[in-house]
Amino acid sequence: MEYSRWRTREVAIGNVPMGGDSPIRIQSMTTVDTMDTIGSVEQTIRMVEAGCEYVRITAPSIKEANNLAEIKKELRRRGYDVPLVADIHFTPNAAEAAARIVEKVRINPGNYADKKKFDQLNYTEPAYQAELERIYTKFAPLVKICKEYGTAMRIGTNHGSLSDRIMSHYGDTPEGMVESAMEFIRICEDLQYYSIVVSMKSSNPQVMVRAYRLLVEKMVAEGMNYPLHLGVTEAGDGEDGRIKSAVGIGTLLEDGLGDTVRVSLTEEPEFEAPVAIALVNRYQARGAESPKESAIPIAGTVHPKPAAYPTKEVNTFIGGSLVPRVVVDISCKNLKDPNILTEVGYKYDPWLDKYHMGEQSVDFVYLADKLPSFTMPGNLKQLYNYHTWLGIQDKANIHPLYTLREFVESRLRDPSMNLIRIRNADLCTTLFEALPLDRTIVFVLETDESHGMADQRQFFSALLELGLDNPVIIRRHYPVAEFSGPEGNLMDPEEPLSKLQLYAATDMGGLLVDGMGNGIWIDSPATPADKLVSAAFGILQATRSRISKTEYISCPSCGRTLFDLQVTTQMIRARTNHLKGLKIGIMGCIVNGPGEMADADYGYVGAGPDKITLYRGKEVVKRNVSSTKALDELIEIIREDGRWIDPE
Ligand code: SF4
Repeated sequence: MEYSRWRTREVAIGNVPMGGDSPIRIQSMTTVDTMDTIGSVEQTIRMVEAGCEYVRITAPSIKEANNLAEIKKELRRRGYDVPLVADIHFTPNAAEAAARIVEKVRINPGNYADKKKFDQLNYTEPAYQAELERIYTKFAPLVKICKEYGTAMRIGTNHGSLSDRIMSHYGDTPEGMVESAMEFIRICEDLQYYSIVVSMKSSNPQVMVRAYRLLVEKMVAEGMNYPLHLGVTEAGDGEDGRIKSAVGIGTLLEDGLGDTVRVSLTEEPEFEAPVAIALVNRYQARGAESPKESAIPIAGTVHPKPAAYPTKEVNTFIGGSLVPRVVVDISCKNLKDPNILTEVGYKYDPWLDKYHMGEQSVDFVYLADKLPSFTMPGNLKQLYNYHTWLGIQDKANIHPLYTLREFVESRLRDPSMNLIRIRNADLCTTLFEALPLDRTIVFVLETDESHGMADQRQFFSALLELGLDNPVIIRRHYPVAEFSGPEGNLMDPEEPLSKLQLYAATDMGGLLVDGMGNGIWIDSPATPADKLVSAAFGILQATRSRISKTEYISCPSCGRTLFDLQVTTQMIRARTNHLKGLKIGIMGCIVNGPGEMADADYGYVGAGPDKITLYRGKEVVKRNVSSTKALDELIEIIREDGRWIDPE
């Protein structure tokens, strides 16, 4: 509830140190075949030019690990001394070769010394200890090489690829992810090796945030302070990928955690660094400001769980266990034309004189003081400023928005739902003391603080302290000056729309993952209403607080990838994007894909050239299907399960 950056130890990685006083570093991973030396070099250079400070390259076997020397030589010959990181899964011999060549190796503790069988085995305590000793023997040689060559190491745990041993004790949980890394860290420390960076990635931002927080708690308890590499795995592409990444990474940056960031998108890797830079730049200057104290004394809350902020339903429409609501301002629109509501999810049919709703139809529109000259849809709630609301005759579905003073001094109130604009600082005012609290009140929480999330978190915690359970809509304002300009190019995070998605997903997503908020209101006068709606529902989907569309868990691809992931993802999306709530994993390789698609309902995984293996959850349903038939076969499986619906 206050911002300060967690200080970690400095780890040398070539000539670009991480942690300590270093800025938050940016990195990404190549996608071309590691045996393609020139292709890897040229892609690395494009990534460096885009802002990458470290570049990771996959080394699936010793052959690729050895070729890292050629890639490094050519890069140095061309004048690029960017530190290289070898990405290792399953192959200790490749790790040991790479550790002699590159500046850092990344290992996955879930598969470094274990073959993943997806068996829930039962381990007795002696069997568990014997496993730990086996891991020590397999892992110690790599640690000794890293020590000798001055090579750093990332111990990178991924949700969904934990070892059977960890699964047997902890299940596929954040606690298991943390323990998986801690086992390897303890071995490193036993061998007096400390050049360690740690990550706890997941494609589910909620799991990822919880795992990093638990890791830090555990490290602090054990006197450790290793730098953190932040990332959301398999985030997907486009707006969804950016929002999901911002919810996970942004929340932790707001917590003051993170020493390096990798945004994983199913796009060209040079598009990832600018997104990471846009996320990180908001924090580079923050440490200098002194944090503001809470208006209400708040007992410490370490990592609240969802539903930790219970509220009561108001008007059977908001709060309680109802999904978070979406508010959009349409007061500047042409309120003579019912077609303007298409932008907020209500399509007007003039023949039938009715509106069609979709999965992303907003719940409230704010009209300020403007009255429309057409009839609004019956299930859309309208918000007006209090004094305008007073003058409206038929108030069905129409509710007032007050300032705190207006509500306290009001002579007429809505018997069903009253929305009050409020700030954290208002809680200790005499006006708030005079507030006649009742079951009709919904707070609209605003902030002008530069530590906006900390300020809004304080408000939620203060409500708990005060024993108040009125629903809260989180509102954040993004001024025209910063968020106006040419619209549309998502690839450029300096574009206002892209920046708005990243900022709003951080500011609101970070509260929603902790169970705070019963609605969101992105107030950005410069942004078209349909884009605000899309961003709002995207944030709710990424935080898993309101599901309105299909979720794609697609890997960013790498040198192991066996088909064009971007084209395949688009193809699958085109035929399945009406299957609300379904999670479809699209993974480039059979080695890591099945584990890393984590909680996907169905999986489309590259198994060899022109060979796709199809999954239902973690179960293989069809092996080695030709890619020309694989999507039809996947749809057939979904149909057999009774989960297919024909598109409209
Ligand atoms: S799942 Fe994708 S990114 Fe991960 S190793 Fe396989 S191909 Fe590479």
